[in-house]
Amino acid sequence: MRFRSLMIYIKTDAEVELLREANQLVSKTLAEVAVHIRPGVTTLRLDAIAEEFIRSHGALPAFKGYAGFPNTLCTSVNDEVVHGIPSDYALREGDIISVDCGVILNGWYGDSAFTFPVGEVRPEILRLLDFTRASLEEGVKQAVAGNRVGDISHAVQTKAEGGGYSVVRTLVGHGIGKHLHEGPEVPNFGRRGSGTRLERNVVICIEPMINMGTKNTRTDSDGWTVRTGDGKPSAHFEYAVAVREGKPDLLTTFEYIEEVLTKR
Ligand code: MG
Ligand code: MG
Repeated sequence: MRFRSLMIYIKTDAEVELLREANQLVSKTLAEVAVHIRPGVTTLRLDAIAEEFIRSHGALPAFKGYAGFPNTLCTSVNDEVVHGIPSDYALREGDIISVDCGVILNGWYGDSAFTFPVGEVRPEILRLLDFTRASLEEGVKQAVAGNRVGDISHAVQTKAEGGGYSVVRTLVGHGIGKHLHEGPEVPNFGRRGSGTRLERNVVICIEPMINMGTKNTRTDSDGWTVRTGDGKPSAHFEYAVAVREGKPDLLTTFEYIEEVLTKR
């Protein structure tokens, strides 16, 4: 999906705090999902766990019904890039699963994604995960007032391609607020110094989708599932971040997920 024409909304400090609450709930939901990721669990089971967790915290699943999407989570396994639909597929040792989650809390949206290994995963695939996450971290560093969107895009692309990977072009990051998708578009490729200037209290989702092989993708006949053109794996990590002066303000945290993963 492209969101080129969407409005950019500058938030008040109070609104950024409401967005922080929504995005922190997403962070906690992904950690709850992480607890249950293991060989044998179905992606539909993970979806049910996430929906129950979100509703029990007074929020709504943001993706369910969005443009007709049927579920709470997007669960994208192995060569699936994004927008995978939860199913009775049981995860297998050696899989990777990208879990994308959105909530609406008090009218404000949260949106974050994390790619998990399932059991023992081949080192070259773990390296893809590491580089994808590192490319996100590089992009986030550029989310400061006065920079341009292209500075984020360029930083993500440089890190990912530096690892020998390719950047998905057909899907991009986005602003977030009282809508799931606001302006500006945040591509994961681009030129330094190009694009929209970032103003204080613009809140954006940066979400590199990085492929082991070709950057090209295709969409399944279900109309949703995007997968790599060559069947090689793809990873996806996403943060919501408020643009500030001097340094970015992360509204998402992976700390809750890390706590779960390190306990294994
Ligand atoms: Mg997003
Ligand atoms: Mg997302």
